[in-house]
Amino acid sequence: MFSDTQINHFRNLKTPFYFYDMGLLDKTLEEVKKHGLSKGYHVHFAVKANFNYKILEKMLDAGLGIDCVSGGEIERAVEAGFQPNQIAFAGVGKSDEEIQIGLNHGIFSFNCESLQELEVLNELASQTGKVANVAVRLNPNVSANTHKYITTGLHENKFGIHPGRFSELFNLLPKLDSIQLTGIHFHIGSQVVDLQSYRQLCEKVNEFQNIFEENGFQLRHINLGGGLGINYNSPDEESIPDFETFFGVFEENLEVRPGQEIHFELGRSIVGQCGSVISKVLYIKEGVSTHFAVIDAGMTELIRPALYQAQHKIDVLTSDKSPLVYDVVGPICESSDTFRRGISLPEVQRGDLVAIRSAGAYGEVMASVYNLRDRAKAYYSDELAEKVITN
Ligand SMILES: *Cc1c(COP(=O)(O)O)cnc(C)c1O
Repeated sequence: MFSDTQINHFRNLKTPFYFYDMGLLDKTLEEVKKHGLSKGYHVHFAVKANFNYKILEKMLDAGLGIDCVSGGEIERAVEAGFQPNQIAFAGVGKSDEEIQIGLNHGIFSFNCESLQELEVLNELASQTGKVANVAVRLNPNVSANTHKYITTGLHENKFGIHPGRFSELFNLLPKLDSIQLTGIHFHIGSQVVDLQSYRQLCEKVNEFQNIFEENGFQLRHINLGGGLGINYNSPDEESIPDFETFFGVFEENLEVRPGQEIHFELGRSIVGQCGSVISKVLYIKEGVSTHFAVIDAGMTELIRPALYQAQHKIDVLTSDKSPLVYDVVGPICESSDTFRRGISLPEVQRGDLVAIRSAGAYGEVMASVYNLRDRAKAYYSDELAEKVITN
């Protein structure tokens, strides 16, 4: 995965840092184009997965739009060069200021998550003399079979409008003059690897679309959200998710009306495998039944293990000695600041470099300065050589 030249560059950089493989990102985007955009599907990159300008530039060049969940993300997308009509805005708790940002830019779609939000949006839009495009986010009660913290499509979750509220919704919508219903929106969760969940989603979408039409609402677009998972165990063997099968599920199961646009919002599946956290071994110490390898990256750089019990593959970059069993832990004063327990790695010593893989999504964007640590820098494969020379 990493060339000798890259590892030699890494030795000269202050650790920990993020490293992005831009060649892999290009290849991943080619697959999204080949199996998604080529079918006429619209794909919005979920900017909350990674908001670096260098990454967003690639999304823009590939012809993707943007999915935002805050006013700050809308501003970031516009700064990165996206047209407002490529921007969807979701989230259960949009503030008045954030709604205003969306209205000022005239975005493609407010994905509204409650009846009250529709009323507030209508009010704010009428004050500015605008008509806002709205998709209502519906809760399909479909399980994503993923970690409970990243499951969003069940009735018990806070997201979307429950079908029990549909009749109220249908009564309310015609009264709101400053919003226009253009679509329906779904997002069942993240790190979804069981495609059966998406088949079930399609059934629900078909059912809901019929209900909307029976009540006189034609839908210009359907937005299926994102969530497609990546292979955290084998990032080299499966460096690009199977977009052909993913989009194929929708092509097969979704009842699309003539002229209707189909939108997706993918984050992790596009950018997850492209990123790594590169870290240095600080100390080795003997535990009761394990060796602790204390590295200089922690939950401040990658919180997924601490937050979702996620397991990221760890590659040792600078040792090929015979393996030992390690707990790989960070320096932060929390026991959850542990990357892996009981894994077999080539024997390492102080100063060895390791790569924590599949950290391109929900890694750098969730970084914190807890313990008053420095923010880790990001380096990109296509400009690494240049950076090392100028440093
Ligand atoms: C986070 C999010 C996404 C992207 O999820 P991934 O698992 O990264 O693909 C898409 N849509 C909405 C509304 C989201 O909140």
